[in-house]
Amino acid sequence: MKPAAFDFLRPDSLEEALEALARFGADARVIAGGQSLVPMLNMRLARPAVLIDIMRLDALRSIREEGAEIVVGAGVRQAALEAWPQLAEKLPLLAKVIGWVGHVQTRARGTVCGSIAHADPSAELPLSLMALGGWVRLRGKRKARSVPASDFFVGMMTTAIAEGEMIEAVSFPLAASGTGFAFREIGRRHGDFAIVACVAVADAAGTRLAIAGVDDQPRCFAVPTGDGDALDDALNDIAWSLNARDDLHASARYRRELVRRLGRETITEARAACRS
Ligand SMILES: Cc1cc2nc3c(=O)[nH]c(=O)nc-3n(C[C@H](O)[C@H](O)[C@H](O)COP(=O)(O)OP(=O)(O)OC[C@H]3O[C@@H](n4cnc5c(N)ncnc54)[C@H](O)[C@@H]3O)c2cc1C
Repeated sequence: MKPAAFDFLRPDSLEEALEALARFGADARVIAGGQSLVPMLNMRLARPAVLIDIMRLDALRSIREEGAEIVVGAGVRQAALEAWPQLAEKLPLLAKVIGWVGHVQTRARGTVCGSIAHADPSAELPLSLMALGGWVRLRGKRKARSVPASDFFVGMMTTAIAEGEMIEAVSFPLAASGTGFAFREIGRRHGDFAIVACVAVADAAGTRLAIAGVDDQPRCFAVPTGDGDALDDALNDIAWSLNARDDLHASARYRRELVRRLGRETITEARAACRS
């Protein structure tokens, strides 16, 4: 299929982009790497009257350290983050995860912020943002605001982005020394969206487990201390608390079982890395 007709704007500045977003409101859509939006246009799942291309805006293209955060601009492609020389040192979780986001070809076009904005419940980057307790920096013509990941994802492919706003950047907390990270994913093939993916983050204060692919948005839980049966019980409670669904790829029962197994593996690995 072909998309419905639309106008295409390529602003020269962020201000111009925000002006266009304010002017066209719900009729406008930001286009970044186009890896999710173009298929949606072709299938006519999205029919914006105007596309605003943000990929020529220099102001959005940086990966920078700001205090205790790494800030990734909306023009940063996933491949650029993957190639960032400081990734393993500053964001070790993302160094583990980024190679699982689609394929070399899709990462060469798709952006980090585009994946966060798209908010697919199986996507690895929203999962990582939740697990790390990151923030989304939103900007409209008149005001800017920062939203924690826990408030940003509000449902199936639905976020806190308001009409006239766009993501300017996302920020991931710098890895603190003594923190352990682990990631596991089960999908049909490497590069496919996850059937279930888990991230565990362990430090002296405790362990968090974030889960994608089960509920309609990534979910994050504090895991009680303890191993053995206590951990099994906690993972069982988490698995049943999620709104798991049957679909073409897997049953809800299988998804809950993956939460128990991948959850245990990631928690064990993250805790071991935290102690070493
Ligand atoms: C074959 C294939 C396999 C894939 N596999 C995976 C996978 O395994 N895991 C995974 O996570 N992803 C996967 N993807 C999706 C890919 O990661 C996309 O790149 C990503 O989801 C969207 O990023 P984008 O820059 O291409 O955004 P676009 O497609 O340009 O936009 C996606 C949505 O986000 C909005 N948007 C984009 N940027 C902004 C912004 N700055 N502010 C506000 N709204 C914005 C758009 O309006 C649109 O609604 C796959 C894609 C393909 C084609």
